[in-house]
Amino acid sequence: MTSPLESIATTIRENDDFLVVSHVNPDGDAIGSVVALGHMLAAMGKNFTLYNASGMPKKNDWLTLPAVIEKDLPDTLPAWTIVMDCGSPERMGEGLYGRLDETRVVNIDHHLGNPNFGELNWVDVKQPAVGCMMALLADKLQQPLTGPLAEAVYLAVATDTGFFTYGSTTPECLELAATMLRNGLDMAGINTLITKQWSLNRLRLWTEVVGSVELFENQTVAVVIATNDMFQRTGTGPGATENVINFIRRLKTVRVSAILREEDTETFKFSLRSNGDDNVQAVAASFGGGGHKNAAGGTVHGTLEQARKALVERIAQMVELH
Ligand code: 5GP
Ligand code: MN
Ligand code: MN
Repeated sequence: MTSPLESIATTIRENDDFLVVSHVNPDGDAIGSVVALGHMLAAMGKNFTLYNASGMPKKNDWLTLPAVIEKDLPDTLPAWTIVMDCGSPERMGEGLYGRLDETRVVNIDHHLGNPNFGELNWVDVKQPAVGCMMALLADKLQQPLTGPLAEAVYLAVATDTGFFTYGSTTPECLELAATMLRNGLDMAGINTLITKQWSLNRLRLWTEVVGSVELFENQTVAVVIATNDMFQRTGTGPGATENVINFIRRLKTVRVSAILREEDTETFKFSLRSNGDDNVQAVAASFGGGGHKNAAGGTVHGTLEQARKALVERIAQMVELH
């Protein structure tokens, strides 16, 4: 039987015009994978449009792009849409999802519970990043993993594995990093470009968010909050909270950490992190969200107090904390 990777490589070889998209509020894996695929399509002389409903994050402005990452969709969509790092189709943004021809969708992802919404689906939850899947695709399409393509793949893999520290890290992704390093990737330089992007405003926001920490359930659950007031006071936005949760999870007694980020009136976006067998994907899914066993997110409604209570109660119910 033809593997999904093989079918996708054939589809790319035999077609010309592609829309390449990843999830809203893109992380390093989402942007890195889109840019990596863009470089492959450019090298193959294909027509393509790169798209993200939230646009290109400023923090990734060091990437060498094969094309602009558009924030607005073209009037006429390309024949094929390649969707990456989206555990559910809504994650690509409502504007696009509503317009797609479902028979021309390629779904490349590594999230638990991906409903295989594409015509071609390559969903592998064992992959630590879609960036690793881009490396396999590059190999299939005989594209050398060097230069800007390697940098984009590295951004994707390094950020989704927490710089190769999470349980999702595989021998294969370490070998991939080693191969790219051997072939000239400036790994230390790129690590600095990825991490050294902070403004003083962001640091001030972090002091407020970290300062809001509260512990629940016998100190096994940590919750921090990020409100619109905090964003206004510090001249920042929701994107500046990225990774606060990974700081909070360092607390020794804590098994599940959470951040509630104010989005709208009585609407909070939450992120959850855990280790080992503590499954926060199930918690997120129970609120209509999703993600991975140890990293998940979703939306919860109510006042801050109600949202926090609902989230902590659900965590206590679904993760066996005692
Ligand atoms: P983060 O907490 O970094 O935003 O996301 C952690 C993981 O959960 C990511 O894999 C992300 O795709 C997933 N995730 C975050 N928010 C949502 C959401 O609202 N819906 C779904 N389905 N997944 C989410
Ligand atoms: Mn992602
Ligand atoms: Mn990912």
